[in-house]
Amino acid sequence: MKVKNLNGTSQRTCKCGSWLKHWENFGGCIATICSVVGCENSAEVGGHVQKVGNDNKWYIIPLCKSCNNKKGQELEIYEDTILVSANVSETCGKGIGKCELDRLFNFK
Ligand SMILES: [Zn+2]
Ligand SMILES: [Zn+2]
Repeated sequence: MKVKNLNGTSQRTCKCGSWLKHWENFGGCIATICSVVGCENSAEVGGHVQKVGNDNKWYIIPLCKSCNNKKGQELEIYEDTILVSANVSETCGKGIGKCELDRLFNFK
């Protein structure tokens, strides 16, 4: 799937602490490698992207720093990449994240 890497969004933060953590909390997975096809670097940051097409929502995906620095460019990412909404009112602004919920249930 093709996404566009958005400009100048790294200053925006949420209460997860980092956007990569945000992706883990709501994607339900631990970030391992960069989402870009052919890139084998480890995931270091949560990058803000938009799907290329008519969807103008903002999403977070795991990226390495070098892919994240390709601001304004289109990136080809794996089809099964989990896109987590960057809209905090739909995610962490609501309260508890999915992973946190899973952890709570696992402790019981
Ligand atoms: Zn968050
Ligand atoms: Zn990369």
